[in-house]
Amino acid sequence: MRKIFAVLMFLLSVTAQAADIAIVIHGGAGTIKKANMSEETEQAYRQKLAESVQKGYAVLKQGGNSLDAVVAAIQNMENSPLFNAGKGAVFTWDETHELDASIMEGKTLNAGAVAGVSRIKSPIAAAKAVMEKSVHVMLSGVGAEHFAQQQQLEMVDNRYFDTDRRREALHKVKAKLLNNDHAMQVSQDMTDYKFGTVGAVALDNQGNLAAGTSTGGMTAKRWGRIGDSPIIGAGTYADNASCAVSATGHGEYFIRYHVAADICARVKYQGKSVAEAGDEVISQLLAKAGGDGGVIILDSKGNIAMPFNTAGMYRASIDTQGKVTVKIYSDEVE
Ligand code: ASP
Repeated sequence: MRKIFAVLMFLLSVTAQAADIAIVIHGGAGTIKKANMSEETEQAYRQKLAESVQKGYAVLKQGGNSLDAVVAAIQNMENSPLFNAGKGAVFTWDETHELDASIMEGKTLNAGAVAGVSRIKSPIAAAKAVMEKSVHVMLSGVGAEHFAQQQQLEMVDNRYFDTDRRREALHKVKAKLLNNDHAMQVSQDMTDYKFGTVGAVALDNQGNLAAGTSTGGMTAKRWGRIGDSPIIGAGTYADNASCAVSATGHGEYFIRYHVAADICARVKYQGKSVAEAGDEVISQLLAKAGGDGGVIILDSKGNIAMPFNTAGMYRASIDTQGKVTVKIYSDEVE
């Protein structure tokens, strides 16, 4: 009898511990308008977003942790030419690619990042390796590539990341910049000049949050420019005591306004909901300052927010009830 009782208690405690799982992803924010997109392209994006969010969710469903779920979802987008991360990354001024990525674990506040790397096939995998296999948080350039090689991560030629579409976008941006010489002042009305960074936030059945972001940066960037995506607190942040955030948008603003950390701080110290905190930072502060972009936010209860101040943001989620959403434009109701 006592044995049966003990087994029952054990089973009960296991069930009680099995917390809700949830995941949210983004594939970039920017001038994404229905009028500029063919039906075919739109479907391709929706399909890839749905597939990516399911890849991450499958990890969580099998009892995997939030970090692995974030990596699975992001890698699926890094491998797709649709997004500005991995294959399909934007071109630099010199017609090459320089990639940035970061990842953070909400339980321990451990984090890892790579910046300005040009030969690592999956920058998010490299960021995770930096977090788990080195004593550092951020590695850059050739040094980061040597580290990735040592960790036996897959290396590729820089041209692996090439796509015709991004090359055309570079030429358009350069033509606009002839009298300007400043990549960051390109007007956002250029239809090809979308952002397209990818990111994910996840909550696993242990109640742990994680966040990750991966990008090719901004078209025509030069002089080793690094954006917000590999910067912990700007493009990525995760803390079980508040929330997990991944950002996409005009990086210079996201760095100056330490967007991801600011959102988490509002949740943590002011008791704001993720929706309130996200709205304050993205729709009020950042919009007023002229910083275009958006974020995905998830807290340890599974509350989700996806605020952005641009025409669209590629985004998808699976909430604690298992409900799947895939959206692109701003007029698709949350
Ligand atoms: N935030 C990225 C950067 O500034 C760009 C993006 O989100 O697409 O590098």
